[in-house]
Amino acid sequence: MRDCIANSSCSKELDPNSKQCQIIAYPDHKLTKDVMSSHALKVVEKLEAGGFQAFIVGGSIRDLLLNRVPKDFDVATNANPKQIKSLFERARIIGRRFQIVHVKLQKQIIEVTTFRSNNNDSLNEQRLRTKNGMLTRDNVFGSLTDDSIRRDLSINALYFNPRDNTITDFTNGFSDIQNGVIRVIGDPIIRFREDPLRLLRVVRFAAKLNFSIDSRTSEPMKHRAKDLRQISPPRLFDESLKLFMSGYGFKTFELLKEFDLVRYMLPQLHDHISSDNLHFRLIRQALINTDYRLENKQRVTPAFVYAALLWPAVQANAKRFRRRGKSARQSLDEAADKVIASQITITAIPRRFTLSMRQIWTLQIYLEKSIGKRARRLIDNPRFRAAYDFVLLREQAGENLNGLGDWWTKYQESDEETQIKMISTRKRHNPANHSNDRSK
Ligand code: ATP
Ligand code: MG
Repeated sequence: MRDCIANSSCSKELDPNSKQCQIIAYPDHKLTKDVMSSHALKVVEKLEAGGFQAFIVGGSIRDLLLNRVPKDFDVATNANPKQIKSLFERARIIGRRFQIVHVKLQKQIIEVTTFRSNNNDSLNEQRLRTKNGMLTRDNVFGSLTDDSIRRDLSINALYFNPRDNTITDFTNGFSDIQNGVIRVIGDPIIRFREDPLRLLRVVRFAAKLNFSIDSRTSEPMKHRAKDLRQISPPRLFDESLKLFMSGYGFKTFELLKEFDLVRYMLPQLHDHISSDNLHFRLIRQALINTDYRLENKQRVTPAFVYAALLWPAVQANAKRFRRRGKSARQSLDEAADKVIASQITITAIPRRFTLSMRQIWTLQIYLEKSIGKRARRLIDNPRFRAAYDFVLLREQAGENLNGLGDWWTKYQESDEETQIKMISTRKRHNPANHSNDRSK
């Protein structure tokens, strides 16, 4: 490991957190080109051939150092977006807040970003802030050093140079990876204010990597949680999927709760969960099941996850409507309307998912009540499987549904004759079927 003081793009003053800027050589990190995406390497080569600097950076280097398979490969360069685009046949400039270039090679997309600066002197139309200090546009280009300190976390700010297999580290990210520490680069309060999504990224990486959060980073988090309200709903929805559907959903949820982030991300859920009530157990079970399915390469859908996250609020609202004398179906529909309308102002759940969520919820009533031919028809409903899984989930969480899940499991496995018998016994033995449910 050597200090890169000799390197002109490396300046100590720019990063208050960094003791030294380091160049880490192969014997210390053991990463080679062979473990990198060949497409990302091609992008780097081409940029260098065009006279630019280019590095593989971000999550891929972090994950490879931890012997994990990277989700994607990002490249950082001093070429500007137009220059990048001109070098590649299939390249598209995307984004407004942060302009990035998507370079497509075969089926892989490599995200290429121009070195950016976090320098507060550059307050011009390229770098806009709200009066709270939040960045609404951030396209001031800069040097490699600038780019490193504008990144969110030290572990995400390592630059791999495929030409000599070195890693450039301006923020002590390499030692943070070795010590299992999440640390925001710069002053955490300012960095969270600039972009409150970073609060969620801290939590996401702490859960995923099983890292601890440095106290200077964690200390202001609870106070800044309310700033989540400033994140645009589409961006927050995308992040919510990363939080809950990356294989560490339950651990992530616990941290979100710890830092009071659930209150601002899912306020309707926050109102209904306490440390170990039935609602909390439902969410815990839903997220544990999602984590398990992802580990076993089974399909997961945002509709199911959100159906669970919002179910406590739907149930509570439906109960209220029911008390006012509305039918079970009407109460549920109105509760679903209300809960969805409120949540999409925070996380913009696309309509195709909200439609499925509604169906999963509505089918809960029908699975409880349906008999005779209706039961047969329910099985053919495209949402039956999800709704049935939802019943199992509710029971797993400890809700007493009089063996409903088992009943439907057996019903599906039975031949027609047995099914008819099952329905007649169900009619006799399940008083719920004689309730005054006006939805039928
Ligand atoms: P993964 O792709 O595995 O979720 P990643 O670290 O690659 O993790 P991306 O969202 O792909 O995350 O972002 C790429 C890089 O851009 C990050 O590693 C980080 O350096 C930087 N970055 C991303 N989001 C922010 C942010 N909100 N503020 C500052 N830097 C960010
Ligand atoms: Mg990435």
